[in-house]
Order: sequence, then C-alpha cells, then structure tokens
Amino acid sequence: MSMWDWIEKMDNPHYVSILMNINPYLAKICIAKRNAQIKSAAKSNAQKEAASIITPFRNFTSSKPSGPLLASNTGELSNAFSFNIDNGVEALNNPPVIIIDFIVYPKGITTDNFVSSLKKSLVKNGFNPNINVVIENSFGYENIKAFFNNQKKFNLQFRTFSRGDRVNVGTGGFAELNSSSAVIYKGLNPSNPKKTVSLSKYIDATLHELGHGMFGFEHNTDPNNRMFPYLKKDQKFNELQLNIIRNSIWGTNPK
Ligand SMILES: [Zn+2]
Repeated sequence: MSMWDWIEKMDNPHYVSILMNINPYLAKICIAKRNAQIKSAAKSNAQKEAASIITPFRNFTSSKPSGPLLASNTGELSNAFSFNIDNGVEALNNPPVIIIDFIVYPKGITTDNFVSSLKKSLVKNGFNPNINVVIENSFGYENIKAFFNNQKKFNLQFRTFSRGDRVNVGTGGFAELNSSSAVIYKGLNPSNPKKTVSLSKYIDATLHELGHGMFGFEHNTDPNNRMFPYLKKDQKFNELQLNIIRNSIWGTNPK
C-alpha cells in the first residue's frame, strides 16, 4: 500500500494500529497529514474542498523503464518502488537527494566505496557537490522526508532481474526518460548477476541511467558518449549534455 493510501486510512483505528506496528515514524506523519486534510476541508464547502486537498497526493506515477543500458527500450517496470513528484513547488528549498537502495549488493564492491566514487564522478560531471547521496530502502527517512517536502529525489535501485521486468538479456540497467528512478542490475547483467564487474563500470552505468532519468537524455550514436547504448571505456558527456546537467536542479548552476 502506498503512502497516500495510508493517509486516507488514518480515519480507521484498525489501520492506524497496523501502520504503527510497521513504521511508527511514518504513522505519525500520515496521521498529521490526515488531520491537516480534515481540518482544512472542514473550513469550507465540504466535497469540493476535500477533493482539491486529496488530489495532489494522487499526482504520482509509478516508474516504467526505457532506454536500458545495453538494449533497446523495453516494457514496464513491475514493482513501483518510487514516486515521481510532479509538483516541485518546494523543491528548490530542499537540497536534492539521490537515494540508493541496495536490494542486492554488487559483488566485490562495498556500498561505501560505491557512494564515495559516485559522488566524485558526479562532481566531475557538473553536479553540485552539495547534493545528498544516501543509502536506504524505499520507506526510509529520506524517502519520506522528500515525499512530504516535494523535495527533488532520485531513487537508484541495485537489484537482480525480477519477473515482469521484460528487459533484454545483456541489459545492464534502465531508466525511463525524465523519471525519478533507475535500476542497475547486479553484474550489469540480468542473466548473470554473479558476474564480477568493476566499480568504475558500475559508476559509468549509473551515470548513463541518470542521464536518461534525470535529464531525459536519449541514446547517442557517438561511441565515446556516455549515452551510447553500449558501455565502453572512457565515455563522456558532451558539452551540451554537461551544460544541461550544470543548469539543472542537480547541477552547480541551477536555473
Ligand atoms: Zn541507455
């Protein structure tokens, strides 16, 4: 059940106690949100007002993949693990955050090494050094905070192939263009998650998927470009792409 479903169910003590058992922190936030909805709805004309309050919480879509790293665009991402925030009103007041969920751990690589190496690489590619990179699962503190603050966030999931992914064999990862999430497959290969892959390859694959998801970059025909559909050594974003990154909410010079 998603967060907006929980908020609506806070009228029912049964669900309140369930959520309290699952996640007391989330429960308190949902109760507060529900109380605010009720209070605000009571102030004026009932149904119309209530609808306008509740609608924004429905304004989320689950993520679908496209532009996988080593294959052409494919079907739907089966498990909707993240939210796309359409309404970014307060986004500028909160620093953007990249949240990494290691559902499986990349062989031979520590999560700390991955995060510190990713941060370095992000800075080299025009990202703001102040953006937050954290490791936590989909219902962790940063996810909840970002949800309620309309904070810009991007969810990166490390995992193995799951039924319904419908990606091609050999696909290292995927992200829908202009979305808020990406998947990186363990081993950069859905059919062989045990394959050992170097840290730098994982980082390169991640930057490629961030290119699709954060900035809507399409595949590029230049083999030396990061958005080339096949991973090769020393691929880079071109100056046009770097400018888009720098001027984005994730960049050193947001506009
Ligand atoms: Zn791609």
